[in-house]
Amino acid sequence: MLDLALQSSEAAGLPLHSVSPNQGKFLMLLARTVGARAILEIGTLGGYSTIWLARALASGGKVTTLEANPQHAKVALANIACAGLTDRVDLRLGSALDTLPTLNDEAPYDFIFIDADRVNIPNYFTWALKLARQGSLIVVDNVIRRGVVIDDSTSQSLRQFFALAAAERKVTFTAMQTVGIKGHDGFAIALVED
Ligand code: SAH
Ligand code: MG
Repeated sequence: MLDLALQSSEAAGLPLHSVSPNQGKFLMLLARTVGARAILEIGTLGGYSTIWLARALASGGKVTTLEANPQHAKVALANIACAGLTDRVDLRLGSALDTLPTLNDEAPYDFIFIDADRVNIPNYFTWALKLARQGSLIVVDNVIRRGVVIDDSTSQSLRQFFALAAAERKVTFTAMQTVGIKGHDGFAIALVED
Protein backbone atom coordinates (compact mmCIF):
# COMPACT_ATOMS: atom_id res chain seq x y z
CA MET A 1 0.00 0.00 0.00
CA LEU A 2 2.86 2.38 0.76
CA ASP A 3 4.56 1.63 -2.57
CA LEU A 4 1.21 1.95 -4.30
CA ALA A 5 0.73 5.39 -2.73
CA LEU A 6 4.09 6.52 -4.11
CA GLN A 7 3.34 5.09 -7.57
CA SER A 8 -0.08 6.70 -7.82
CA SER A 9 1.29 10.03 -6.55
CA GLU A 10 3.99 9.97 -9.22
CA ALA A 11 1.50 8.89 -11.91
CA ALA A 12 -0.71 11.85 -10.96
CA GLY A 13 2.24 14.18 -11.48
CA LEU A 14 2.70 15.13 -7.82
CA PRO A 15 6.16 16.41 -6.80
CA LEU A 16 8.47 13.71 -5.40
CA HIS A 17 8.62 15.23 -1.94
CA SER A 18 7.36 12.38 0.23
CA VAL A 19 9.53 11.23 3.10
CA SER A 20 11.80 8.30 2.27
CA PRO A 21 10.61 4.83 3.34
CA ASN A 22 13.07 4.67 6.23
CA GLN A 23 12.06 8.11 7.43
CA GLY A 24 8.40 7.11 7.17
CA LYS A 25 9.07 4.11 9.35
CA PHE A 26 11.05 6.25 11.75
CA LEU A 27 8.05 8.60 12.08
CA MET A 28 5.82 5.62 12.76
CA LEU A 29 8.24 4.35 15.37
CA LEU A 30 8.42 7.73 17.12
CA ALA A 31 4.63 8.16 17.12
CA ARG A 32 4.23 4.67 18.59
CA THR A 33 6.86 5.36 21.21
CA VAL A 34 4.78 8.23 22.57
CA GLY A 35 1.58 6.17 22.22
CA ALA A 36 0.08 8.82 19.95
CA ARG A 37 -3.72 8.86 19.62
CA ALA A 38 -4.00 12.35 18.16
CA ILE A 39 -1.55 13.18 15.38
CA LEU A 40 -1.35 16.41 13.41
CA GLU A 41 0.42 16.56 10.05
CA ILE A 42 1.03 19.79 8.14
CA GLY A 43 1.58 18.96 4.43
CA THR A 44 -0.15 15.83 3.12
CA LEU A 45 0.95 15.63 -0.54
CA GLY A 46 -0.14 12.14 -1.71
CA GLY A 47 -0.63 10.83 1.81
CA TYR A 48 2.52 8.71 2.00
CA SER A 49 3.70 9.96 5.40
CA THR A 50 0.03 10.14 6.45
CA ILE A 51 -0.28 6.38 5.95
CA TRP A 52 2.82 5.71 8.07
CA LEU A 53 1.45 7.96 10.81
CA ALA A 54 -2.05 6.46 10.66
CA ARG A 55 -0.48 3.02 11.08
CA ALA A 56 1.23 4.23 14.23
CA LEU A 57 -2.00 5.29 15.95
CA ALA A 58 -3.13 3.77 19.18
CA SER A 59 -6.62 2.29 18.86
CA GLY A 60 -9.35 4.86 18.32
CA GLY A 61 -6.78 7.44 17.29
CA LYS A 62 -6.84 9.89 14.41
CA VAL A 63 -4.45 11.74 12.09
CA THR A 64 -5.51 15.24 11.12
CA THR A 65 -3.59 16.25 8.00
CA LEU A 66 -3.54 19.70 6.38
CA GLU A 67 -3.12 20.27 2.64
CA ALA A 68 -3.56 23.41 0.54
CA ASN A 69 -3.53 21.87 -2.92
CA PRO A 70 -6.86 20.26 -3.97
CA GLN A 71 -5.18 17.96 -6.50
CA HIS A 72 -2.74 16.66 -3.86
CA ALA A 73 -5.64 16.19 -1.44
CA LYS A 74 -7.59 14.20 -4.00
CA VAL A 75 -4.70 11.83 -4.67
CA ALA A 76 -4.05 11.52 -0.92
CA LEU A 77 -7.65 10.62 -0.14
CA ALA A 78 -7.57 7.88 -2.78
CA ASN A 79 -4.28 6.51 -1.42
CA ILE A 80 -5.56 6.62 2.16
CA ALA A 81 -8.74 4.80 1.12
CA CYS A 82 -6.68 2.22 -0.72
CA ALA A 83 -4.71 1.61 2.48
CA GLY A 84 -7.98 1.10 4.37
CA LEU A 85 -7.32 4.09 6.64
CA THR A 86 -10.12 6.50 5.72
CA ASP A 87 -11.74 6.27 9.15
CA ARG A 88 -8.47 7.17 10.87
CA VAL A 89 -7.56 10.21 8.74
CA ASP A 90 -9.17 13.61 8.66
CA LEU A 91 -7.84 15.67 5.74
CA ARG A 92 -8.47 19.42 5.96
CA LEU A 93 -8.16 21.23 2.65
CA GLY A 94 -6.91 24.80 2.87
CA SER A 95 -3.86 26.83 3.67
CA ALA A 96 -2.44 25.47 6.95
CA LEU A 97 -2.19 28.91 8.53
CA ASP A 98 -5.96 29.28 8.02
CA THR A 99 -6.76 25.79 9.31
CA LEU A 100 -4.48 25.72 12.37
CA PRO A 101 -6.50 28.31 14.36
CA THR A 102 -9.59 26.09 13.94
CA LEU A 103 -7.95 23.10 15.66
CA ASN A 104 -7.92 24.39 19.23
CA ASP A 105 -10.92 22.26 20.16
CA GLU A 106 -9.21 19.08 18.97
CA ALA A 107 -5.90 19.79 20.67
CA PRO A 108 -3.74 18.67 22.29
CA TYR A 109 -1.98 16.56 19.71
CA ASP A 110 0.47 13.93 20.95
CA PHE A 111 2.60 14.03 17.82
CA ILE A 112 2.94 16.81 15.24
CA PHE A 113 4.74 16.44 11.90
CA ILE A 114 5.57 19.67 10.04
CA ASP A 115 6.28 19.04 6.34
CA ALA A 116 4.73 21.79 4.18
CA ASP A 117 6.22 25.01 2.77
CA ARG A 118 9.54 25.75 4.46
CA VAL A 119 9.07 29.50 4.53
CA ASN A 120 6.33 29.04 7.13
CA ILE A 121 8.22 26.61 9.39
CA PRO A 122 8.64 29.20 12.18
CA ASN A 123 4.89 29.91 12.06
CA TYR A 124 3.98 26.22 12.03
CA PHE A 125 6.33 25.55 14.94
CA THR A 126 4.70 28.32 16.96
CA TRP A 127 1.28 26.81 16.21
CA ALA A 128 2.51 23.33 17.07
CA LEU A 129 3.56 24.56 20.51
CA LYS A 130 0.06 25.96 21.05
CA LEU A 131 -1.59 22.71 19.99
CA ALA A 132 0.72 20.40 21.97
CA ARG A 133 0.83 19.27 25.59
CA GLN A 134 3.61 18.29 27.95
CA GLY A 135 5.15 15.13 26.47
CA SER A 136 4.16 15.83 22.86
CA LEU A 137 6.74 15.36 20.13
CA ILE A 138 7.10 17.82 17.26
CA VAL A 139 9.06 16.70 14.19
CA VAL A 140 10.01 19.21 11.50
CA ASP A 141 11.15 17.90 8.12
CA ASN A 142 13.61 19.41 5.65
CA VAL A 143 15.47 21.75 7.94
CA ILE A 144 18.97 21.22 6.51
CA ARG A 145 18.58 21.71 2.75
CA ARG A 146 21.83 20.11 1.62
CA GLY A 147 23.58 22.12 4.29
CA VAL A 148 23.74 25.13 2.01
CA VAL A 149 23.39 28.44 3.76
CA ILE A 150 22.14 30.79 1.11
CA ASP A 151 20.72 34.13 1.95
CA ASP A 152 17.32 33.49 0.43
CA SER A 153 13.95 33.53 2.13
CA THR A 154 13.91 29.79 2.87
CA SER A 155 17.31 29.75 4.56
CA GLN A 156 16.32 32.80 6.52
CA SER A 157 13.18 31.10 7.77
CA LEU A 158 15.17 27.98 8.68
CA ARG A 159 17.64 30.06 10.68
CA GLN A 160 14.73 31.84 12.30
CA PHE A 161 13.21 28.46 13.21
CA PHE A 162 16.46 27.20 14.80
CA ALA A 163 16.79 30.41 16.81
CA LEU A 164 13.17 30.17 17.93
CA ALA A 165 13.40 26.50 18.94
CA ALA A 166 16.73 26.94 20.72
CA ALA A 167 15.38 29.85 22.74
CA GLU A 168 12.06 28.19 23.60
CA ARG A 169 12.35 26.96 27.17
CA LYS A 170 9.23 24.79 26.79
CA VAL A 171 11.08 22.32 24.52
CA THR A 172 14.15 20.11 24.43
CA PHE A 173 15.28 20.24 20.86
CA THR A 174 17.80 18.79 18.42
CA ALA A 175 18.26 18.31 14.69
CA MET A 176 19.65 15.31 12.79
CA GLN A 177 21.17 15.43 9.33
CA THR A 178 20.26 12.64 6.95
CA VAL A 179 21.76 11.32 3.73
CA GLY A 180 19.64 8.92 1.72
CA ILE A 181 17.63 8.50 -1.45
CA LYS A 182 16.37 12.05 -0.99
CA GLY A 183 19.88 13.52 -0.81
CA HIS A 184 21.30 15.51 2.10
CA ASP A 185 18.72 17.02 4.37
CA GLY A 186 17.57 16.60 7.95
CA PHE A 187 14.82 16.88 10.47
CA ALA A 188 14.38 18.45 13.88
CA ILE A 189 12.72 16.91 16.93
CA ALA A 190 11.32 18.86 19.85
CA LEU A 191 9.97 17.32 23.03
CA VAL A 192 7.49 19.60 24.79
CA GLU A 193 8.56 19.67 28.42
CA ASP A 194 5.91 21.83 30.01
N1 SAH B 1 4.27 14.85 4.17
C1 SAH B 1 4.28 14.42 2.77
C2 SAH B 1 5.04 15.39 1.89
C3 SAH B 1 4.49 16.80 1.93
S1 SAH B 1 5.15 17.80 0.61
C4 SAH B 1 4.96 13.05 2.72
O1 SAH B 1 6.05 12.91 3.29
O2 SAH B 1 4.43 12.15 2.06
C5 SAH B 1 4.52 19.36 1.09
C6 SAH B 1 3.01 19.54 0.89
O3 SAH B 1 2.64 20.72 1.60
C7 SAH B 1 2.57 19.72 -0.55
O4 SAH B 1 1.55 18.82 -0.88
C8 SAH B 1 2.06 21.15 -0.62
O5 SAH B 1 0.94 21.34 -1.48
C9 SAH B 1 1.65 21.38 0.84
N2 SAH B 1 1.63 22.79 1.22
C10 SAH B 1 2.47 23.78 0.81
N3 SAH B 1 2.14 24.94 1.37
C11 SAH B 1 1.07 24.69 2.15
C12 SAH B 1 0.25 25.50 3.01
N4 SAH B 1 0.50 26.80 3.15
N5 SAH B 1 -0.77 24.92 3.66
C13 SAH B 1 -1.02 23.59 3.52
N6 SAH B 1 -0.28 22.78 2.74
C14 SAH B 1 0.74 23.33 2.07
MG1 MG C 1 9.53 16.60 3.67
